[in-house]
Amino acid sequence: MSLFTPRNVLYLSILAGLSTLVLKSYAYWITDSISLLSDAAESVINLIAAIIAFIAVRLSERPADDTHTYGHEKIEYFSSGFEGALILFAAFSIGMLGIHRLIFPQPLQTLEVGMIISFIATLINAVVAVILLIVGKKYQSIVLEADGQHLLTDVYTTCGVLIGLFLAKVTGVEWIDPILAIGVSLIILTISLQLIWKSFKGLMDHALPEKELAIIREIITHNLESKMTFHALRSRQAGAKKFVDFHLLLPGLLSIKVGHQLMEKIEHAIKLQIKDCQVQIHAEPIEDPTSWEDNALTSFEKKVPNS
Ligand SMILES: [Zn+2]
Ligand SMILES: [Zn+2]
Repeated sequence: MSLFTPRNVLYLSILAGLSTLVLKSYAYWITDSISLLSDAAESVINLIAAIIAFIAVRLSERPADDTHTYGHEKIEYFSSGFEGALILFAAFSIGMLGIHRLIFPQPLQTLEVGMIISFIATLINAVVAVILLIVGKKYQSIVLEADGQHLLTDVYTTCGVLIGLFLAKVTGVEWIDPILAIGVSLIILTISLQLIWKSFKGLMDHALPEKELAIIREIITHNLESKMTFHALRSRQAGAKKFVDFHLLLPGLLSIKVGHQLMEKIEHAIKLQIKDCQVQIHAEPIEDPTSWEDNALTSFEKKVPNS
């Protein structure tokens, strides 16, 4: 599996993008089919998206430095957001072309050859999409997954277009071609909105899934002794990296040494359960009223047992 690193897989997707773009453009050129044109337009986006993804992954791999002390993972959300915007643009263009061709129909030529070429391009895309999805899941990379998801929809739409063109050829009905193009544009539209939404969530520091938060609460509670509690649990995610912080309320006379040992223990336990997680704990004396009034979260977050 070591051959399939995120970087190598992205090289592969750029190569696939280039070759399918050439094949599909040629298929449109010889057939004058607008649905094949819509398919080729998707390939242009695939290629641009693959290049953006490549740059984003290279940047996000950089370790934290003195100007980006949390690391560079968030660049991935810009990449997938930009990709979403590009696809949105393509969806509108293809939809408009489809409507135009519906009003002014045109005959199709040498459809068989065009369809075979388009089918070969789709096979290439299908293989690369599956590789992207597997490697993306393994490395928890939103960029690779977005890229793979994107290629996969490209495969579905091309299959739909090919089936439709086959029907158009058999029946000789001219409006099937533009209707297919409009259908493709609607599919592309939903993908783009999903990508934009996912990026938005990441950039807005959406909390970790409730399942993981429950695990974290359970670990903290499990490690607390009498006259201890916690509050103001916060979490966020940047790419594969997760961040958790909370206030630990300890008896005021407990030594820093003992308190720190406890915090190290909790930190370690959380990191064992939640992969690639950074934990920050703020210690405060449980007797002091100011410890309880220091965070807006304390008024509405889930209640923890106060022993
Ligand atoms: Zn420490
Ligand atoms: Zn507090």
